[in-house]
Amino acid sequence: KAKAQGKNCYELYSSQLTTQAVLSFQLEQDLRIALNTRQLLLHYQPQFSLKSGDLCGLEVLVRWQHPEKGMMPPGEFIPLAEETNLIIPLGWQVIELACEQILVWQEQGKMVPPVAINISPKQLLEADFIEHINAILARFGIARSQIELEITESLIMQDPDYAIEQLNSLRQAGYRLAIDDFGIGYSSLNRLKQLPLDRLKIDYSFTRDIGTNPKDEAIILTVIALGKSLNIEVLAEGVETEAQLAFLKAQGCDSVQGFLLGRPVPEQELLSLHAA
Ligand code: C2E
Ligand code: MG
Ligand code: MG
Ligand code: MG
Repeated sequence: KAKAQGKNCYELYSSQLTTQAVLSFQLEQDLRIALNTRQLLLHYQPQFSLKSGDLCGLEVLVRWQHPEKGMMPPGEFIPLAEETNLIIPLGWQVIELACEQILVWQEQGKMVPPVAINISPKQLLEADFIEHINAILARFGIARSQIELEITESLIMQDPDYAIEQLNSLRQAGYRLAIDDFGIGYSSLNRLKQLPLDRLKIDYSFTRDIGTNPKDEAIILTVIALGKSLNIEVLAEGVETEAQLAFLKAQGCDSVQGFLLGRPVPEQELLSLHAA
């Protein structure tokens, strides 16, 4: 009897695995189609300077308008895209869509702050990354200083020497550079010192615990101090409450982003862009 049960268990387990594999294969096929039929779209989340209160940036966040599943957040398809290398064409499409939008805003006479784009480590480590991004910006007539590239600490850990070389070249070419989700990775301070950064983005998991966890507050203070001494701007992600905002302002954090100040929205709902 036990043997029979064991067999059933095995069959159940293996058929679930198969289902999982089929589902992700299906999603991969769907994503390939999506890339060829403009199913990806961009949302934009505002970033504000704490000194002036002004809009100081917009972060591009990709969404997938799936024909059956509806609007999908990046957490549901970016990991698969990374596994299948589809992140490379996907990443280029995001950059092109962002440039297309920036050009429209500029033609409407709007003042466009730096636009931050998330770049996967895989994409940034491509040998022709710089040539390719330069070519896209040139095609749209957009200045490189208009674009901030958000990278994560995992990039630096994967291939530190090459990453530092790529980042230096990008900075020299005129791009702004930010480290995203700062504090949850393992990049050493020694590496950080070697990087030509404009901005550190404190991960939302620290911001979330302002007012409840003194350890998170201590980490935030340390990052703010680090930014000041290395002359790198510090932005706190995930600001949801007035209390978090007040704390960050009092501690001298440079800028903030979060639901309290503005959710990621499609271009038509973005209220913070003004005439130049
Ligand atoms: P991220 O770059 O750290 O982006 C911030 C995420 O936090 C966004 O989630 C945003 O909607 C969310 N967020 C913003 N304010 C708040 C807040 O006050 N509270 C909370 N709880 N969350 C907030 P989203 O749009 O789901 O994106 C998730 C991640 O997907 C991004 O994290 C980024 O790592 C990745 N991603 C998004 N777009 C792209 C892309 O075009 N390319 C690549 N490679 N990755 C992307
Ligand atoms: Mg980001
Ligand atoms: Mg982040
Ligand atoms: Mg993230």
